[in-house]
Amino acid sequence: MAQIQWFPGHMAKARKEVQARLKQVDVVLEIVDARVPESSRNPMMNQIVGQKPRIMVLNKQDLADPAKTKLWLDHFRAGGDEAIAIDAQHAKRLNQLPALAKQLMAAKIAKQKARGIRNPAIRAICIGIPNVGKSTVLNRLVHKNIAVTGNRPGVTKNQQWLAVDDTFQVLDTPGILWPKFEDELIGQKLALTGAIADAVFQEDTVGMFGLATFRRLYPEQFRVAYGLNATDMALSDSDLMVHLSQKNGFGADYNRMAERIIFDARQGKLGRYTLEVPADFEADDDDAR
Ligand code: GDP
Repeated sequence: MAQIQWFPGHMAKARKEVQARLKQVDVVLEIVDARVPESSRNPMMNQIVGQKPRIMVLNKQDLADPAKTKLWLDHFRAGGDEAIAIDAQHAKRLNQLPALAKQLMAAKIAKQKARGIRNPAIRAICIGIPNVGKSTVLNRLVHKNIAVTGNRPGVTKNQQWLAVDDTFQVLDTPGILWPKFEDELIGQKLALTGAIADAVFQEDTVGMFGLATFRRLYPEQFRVAYGLNATDMALSDSDLMVHLSQKNGFGADYNRMAERIIFDARQGKLGRYTLEVPADFEADDDDAR
């Protein structure tokens, strides 16, 4: 897992780098984690991307709740972007990305063709916070195993265009921006899904957050995963943590149970889940472009 320490100067530099690279591309592929599609975005992303055509790429959809993924796709499309849910790890549905980009750029392509350019190429860049799968998307798109060096903000290298097909190219250096880690709820969601490195949070807090959240959103998945009965499920969150800890052989070491819940959530052992829906963000809806 990328361990990136973000400092104000660092963030400004990362932003400038991304903005410079944006000038070279036609389309932005904004990669987010389908389990936390809004919380896994950079807080300034809309401003940074501006009016550049964008495809919202909901990655790790194999781990996400399909019904909620659909809500998010509709939400992003309603906001004026293209959107697609993929599983880069297993190379699922990635082949639709070039077609989507070409569709988005149809007017420009037609113009270039009219000017006599026979096979105009579209250029794209992957952008997102750490661990959403930017490198995996890049590698799968170009069917290569390129070492995505410079996979840290502020580490520059010579950039290259990688051919996805005859008319679609992607920059080999993804744009890396910081998450919304100042918001505590968002921080916990990112920690639970694994987007934020372990050193940055308290596992007992995140484990308890996981327990409470799964009980609220996916009680049956949680019950089955830990072999609980209806009486167990009626316990308060903290009593259930105590019970689970004992049941799993950790005794009074609740931290180990918290760690276990985090591990299981990240590995998909608690089933597919999505921790947020668009309506959760409606009050501060400054996303519309
Ligand atoms: P980056 O920091 O944004 O470049 O993220 P990486 O490409 O390094 O991916 C972070 C982690 O997520 C890695 O362990 C990947 O194997 C995993 N990952 C990436 N895409 C997917 C996906 O679609 N599904 C699942 N389950 N895991 C993924």
